[in-house]
This record gives sequence, C-alpha cells and structure tokens, in this order.
Amino acid sequence: MADGSPDGRPHSAGADQTPAPRAEDRRELRGVLGSFATGITVLTAGRELPRGMTANSFTSVSLDPPLVLVCVVRTAALHDLVLDEKAFAVSVLSADQEHLARRFADRGRPRGAREFEAVDTEPGRRTGAPILSGAVAWLECSLEAVYDGGDHSILLGSVLDAGGDPGTDALLFYRGGFHRLAPSTV
Ligand SMILES: Cc1cc2nc3c(=O)[nH]c(=O)nc-3n(C[C@H](O)[C@H](O)[C@H](O)COP(=O)(O)OP(=O)(O)OC[C@H]3O[C@@H](n4cnc5c(N)ncnc54)[C@H](O)[C@@H]3O)c2cc1C
Repeated sequence: MADGSPDGRPHSAGADQTPAPRAEDRRELRGVLGSFATGITVLTAGRELPRGMTANSFTSVSLDPPLVLVCVVRTAALHDLVLDEKAFAVSVLSADQEHLARRFADRGRPRGAREFEAVDTEPGRRTGAPILSGAVAWLECSLEAVYDGGDHSILLGSVLDAGGDPGTDALLFYRGGFHRLAPSTV
C-alpha cells in the first residue's frame, strides 16, 4: 500500500486562512453540504465476520488507473477492518433499498454474526466482502492509500472488479432525506 499519510494540506494559493468552523456553525455547514445530492452506498469488508456501513462520501477519482475514494469516520467498526483486510467493497443502493441505507446507518443494528442477518448478499470474488443483492452497481477494491481527513480517513481504493444493473434506478440522498429520481420532463 502506498504511503498515504501526507504531512501537509493541499497548497491553495491565495486561499483565505480563517480557522475551521466553530461547533455552533457545524449545523449550518451540514445544511450547506447537504445540498450536494449524492447516491448512497453500503461499504463492506471482511470474509468470516464482515461489517458494513452506509456511506455517501463515495467518489470516483481516476479511470487510468481505476481509483475511487470513500471517507470513513475513524470510530466506525468498518474503519479498522478495512485497514486490516486492505480491501473493501462498495454496493451502490437502488431506489427500493432505502431500508438497507437506514439499517447500515443505525447504531442499534445487530452486530457480529447478525449484522448481515436477513440481508441478501454474495461474497465478492476478489475480496470476499459482501456485495448486496439488488444493488445498482458494485465495486471491489484493494486499499491503495489512507489519508488523514480530520475525524475521518480518506480511503483510496484501487478497483479490482466492478459491475451493475443499468436498468435499475439509484437511491438518492439530498438535504437530509432519501429520494428517488423524478422522471425526465424533456
Ligand atoms: C445517508 C448517510 C450517509 C452516510 N455517509 C457516511 C460516510 O460517508 N462516512 C461515514 O463515516 N459515515 C457515514 N454515515 C454514518 C454511518 O453510516 C453511521 O455512523 C454508522 O452507524 C457507522 O457504523 P459503525 O458501526 O461502523 O459505527 P458506529 O455505529 O458509530 O459505532 C461506533 C463504534 O461503536 C460500536 N457499537 C456501536 N453500537 C453498538 C452496538 N449496539 N453493539 C455493539 N457495538 C456497537 C461499533 O462496533 C463501533 O466500534 C452516513 C449515514 C447516512 C444516513
């Protein structure tokens, strides 16, 4: 794995160097960030005792080489498992999988051997990490680098395999709520 622990922040010529937002400003910041509409994924890792969590920080990075990134809070159970396994899988949820988005974001969900109870999955061929049946798309990744991202880690993944169902609509997340694609009017 490449050394992905850069000592500095990106250089931004002429950028305003005011400090990070105070605690009382964070709610407003969340509101601003929430106006960026995203899809929803469930990140998974592990073979024998896999873990999963809902994440919308998934982003494509590069096509050549094929790279993606996800930002995972350091306290998440999945975080250290990905670092141990050096691999993870991404299932992009379909419009009718809102219940799975909620399940894997719920701190009170079953853990251990019961975390994937009643969730239909297939082990990924390259990583063994569970891939959720019915997902719009899925990717299997090896962990290429880990960067400091404040209270999150930025996990850069090298895509080992990917696939999907182009006939299925994705689930969306926007302004704190789950949404479906509206039919095009043009
Ligand atoms: C739309 C959406 C998008 C999101 N996107 C992201 C994202 O991009 N990145 C991100 O990091 N988070 C994201 N989250 C938040 C994330 O899905 C939740 O914080 C999720 O609960 C993380 O699961 P966890 O078990 O890994 O961590 P937590 O639920 O926060 O648990 C933290 C620690 O406590 C332990 N623990 C907690 N509850 C129990 C329990 N009942 N029994 C035993 N142990 C327990 C866990 O094992 C873990 O070690 C998103 C949530 C939503 C709704």
